[in-house]
Order: sequence, then C-alpha cells, then structure tokens
Amino acid sequence: MNLVLFGPPGAGKGTQAKVLAERHGVPHISTGDIFRAALRQGTPLGLDAKRFMDAGQLVPDAVVCGMVRERLRERDAERGYVLDGFPRTIAQAVAFDEMLSADGSSIGKVISVEVADEELVRRLTGRRSCPVCGAAYHVESAPPKVAGACDACGSALVQREDDSEGVVRKRLEVYNAQTRPVAAYYQDRGVLQRIDGSGSIPDVLDRIEKALEDGGR
Ligand SMILES: [Zn+2]
Repeated sequence: MNLVLFGPPGAGKGTQAKVLAERHGVPHISTGDIFRAALRQGTPLGLDAKRFMDAGQLVPDAVVCGMVRERLRERDAERGYVLDGFPRTIAQAVAFDEMLSADGSSIGKVISVEVADEELVRRLTGRRSCPVCGAAYHVESAPPKVAGACDACGSALVQREDDSEGVVRKRLEVYNAQTRPVAAYYQDRGVLQRIDGSGSIPDVLDRIEKALEDGGR
C-alpha cells in the first residue's frame, strides 16, 4: 500500500496515518520524523536542511524530496508506506512524481481528509493541556470537570501559542494557499479521493478504509 494522506492542520491525519500504517503493516512516514532522524544521524541531506533551518529559511523542495527518497528506500518501506505531511506544495508534488518515476515507481493513492475551516478552528483553538502532568483536554469535546483546571492534578490549563485563533487562521491560510492546490494536482491525475473528515477518528478511519478498498490499488 502506497498512500499519501493529505489534509489541513486539525484534520487528525497524523493519528489516522499512524493507525492505518499499523493495520496495514507499513511504516508511517511523516516529514517531521524524517527531518528529526536525518538531523540526528547527520546525513548529508540532514546537514543541508539544518543549514537552511539555522538561517531561518525554508528548506528547499529538492532537499525535502531527497530526504523523503532516502527514507522510502529503507527496507521497511519495501511493502509500502503511509506518507503524512508530504508533498506540501505543487513543486514538491512534481518533484515527488519525478523521483518515483526515476525509481521505477509511481504514486499510489492520495486521500484528502476534508474538514471545513470553521470546524478546524473550533477543534484547534479549543485544545488545552496541563503544563504539570501533560493531560490533554478540549473545551467542547473533552472538557475538564472544573473549567480551566486539570482533573488529575488541579493545575491551571494552558493553550499552546500555536492553537491561538490568530495563529490557527494563519496556518489555515498558508495551507489553503500552498497545500490545497496539491489536491487538485492529484485529482487531475486521477489518483485523489476526498473523504469527509467530520466526526470521530474511528468514523473517519472507516471512510478511509472504504476508499482504499474501492480503489483496489
Ligand atoms: Zn495535570
């Protein structure tokens, strides 16, 4: 199974990718993990990426693609993979296609987990966590017994800076401008399936599994 899981911040695709990878016996490959591993191991591409990050610059597509390629060549990815967080731009999608065809492979299936912006804002801005014991809450879907206080240890709950409304809206804007067009790119190539990402994680996973069966790749 070669699957690219695609979706905006807050769509839950990291969790879904992890479960799908376990169920299908293939590695869950996220670009965040690849970056951390390449930096830790000090690979040439990892060092390249570090130079850009240290300078506060975006890591160029060629470097990102090179790291993904190295990861896909590892033994555990022989039977397939679930790719999460890549490609993030049209340029990366084009480079990924070129890389796959150079390696005698091609894109498998691309599943886009679709959730309305306002729902994403509700999901992300409602997250709270306990700075002392790490317990996680959501003001609507998993509220603590006493508003603003941790059930386990009573500490005052906090919201991550990343989850503030301003930052969330900015992240969605960047996603809509740079990453959403990648879905159209794959749609044109006939490999994209759009999935309703509303509801619980098990519900969304069921929809993804159905889409995987229907496609039969
Ligand atoms: Zn706590």
